[in-house]
Amino acid sequence: MRDELLTLTHGGEHQKDYLNAVTPPVFLNSLHIFDSMEDYLDHDETGAYVYGRVSNPTVHILEEKVAALEKGSMAVAFASGMAAFSAAVLAVCGTGSHIICLRNVYGPVKQVLNDYFIPQMGMTVSYWDGRSLDELEGLIRDNTALMVLESPATLVFSVFDIEGTARIARAHGVKTYIDNSYCTPLYQKPLTLGIDIVMHTMSKYIGGHSDIIGGILAVRDEELGKTLADHIRQWFGGILGPMEAWLAIRGLRTLDLRVERHQKTAMAVAAYLENHPKVEEVYYTGLPSHPQADLIRKQQTGHTGLMSFRLKAGPEAAMRLVDELKIFEIGCSWGGFESLAIVPLARAGEEELKLLGLGEKGRGLIRIHCGLEGTEALLADLEQALEKI
Ligand SMILES: *Cc1c(COP(=O)(O)O)cnc(C)c1O
Repeated sequence: MRDELLTLTHGGEHQKDYLNAVTPPVFLNSLHIFDSMEDYLDHDETGAYVYGRVSNPTVHILEEKVAALEKGSMAVAFASGMAAFSAAVLAVCGTGSHIICLRNVYGPVKQVLNDYFIPQMGMTVSYWDGRSLDELEGLIRDNTALMVLESPATLVFSVFDIEGTARIARAHGVKTYIDNSYCTPLYQKPLTLGIDIVMHTMSKYIGGHSDIIGGILAVRDEELGKTLADHIRQWFGGILGPMEAWLAIRGLRTLDLRVERHQKTAMAVAAYLENHPKVEEVYYTGLPSHPQADLIRKQQTGHTGLMSFRLKAGPEAAMRLVDELKIFEIGCSWGGFESLAIVPLARAGEEELKLLGLGEKGRGLIRIHCGLEGTEALLADLEQALEKI
């Protein structure tokens, strides 16, 4: 933990390179110039910065920090989490590749698979419910290139066996990608469990202040990292902007403090909701009653501020409850300082509800993010809204 705190606060920073400024500057330059043509032509060997679509010193500091936190050899930052996801697919898959996707991953990921990579790139996708490793192995085909994973899943907070899944994938030469945004690099380290590519959307806890869009991939295999950075990111042009990188660096300095507080508040909120007579079910990995509590203890060292719950009264009451909340604002994101609430599947199609394994009851799922306004204020807000239902 001590090393992690040093990485969060000082990692990747070399003050001597920027006039001993205690925080690094935002390198807002598109270009780096050279003393001689010789130097310019040698830039590949010397590793000199050349052009902002390729790399940027501020972005690089962020990448060094995240690579160290995830125990990877390299991290590659993108303009959004979705740009990072797409880069991972483009780096690993080709036309006609088969992808195995966990069924309850982030919705837009399934959308880009179903509406772009399948029809436009001739790929195929099989969905896995995350439960049986035998079933997962049965889904693997000769042309399976990638597994797309997320644990915990940020709607229903189910987890899957990360180490077991990575072992099966490796045995079949299949690469694995996991969205680790919920846990942050502090509470789960998928690369150490055998996963190939870890993704964080930085608009969530890494940024932490709801003021940036960004994504980052961390890998152990340097060849794969170079493909992501020097081919996919450079060619498709999706690098993170330097100002966003600077804000993410600032976010990381307090990541440990923030997630600790998010967790503490969310634990109290989850326990309160679980004991409330109007609540049917609470989905939170920190609850001892979670059906996968043993597996969670094995692979996660903490929990953060996001959870879902359902009322006994159903979907219509769920919408009313969210409208009644005063501190929890209505919004789809999470991971910032602010508390948020949403009924994410209120208008979901039957297919989607079935795919998520929830059925009709999924329509009443309320997802809340416990922000930094304090446990007492959030409990009181929930109390007053629940009273009105
Ligand atoms: C927000 C989110 C993303 C997408 O990240 P962007 O930076 O918005 O592209 C991916 N995964 C999860 C779990 C998210 O919540």
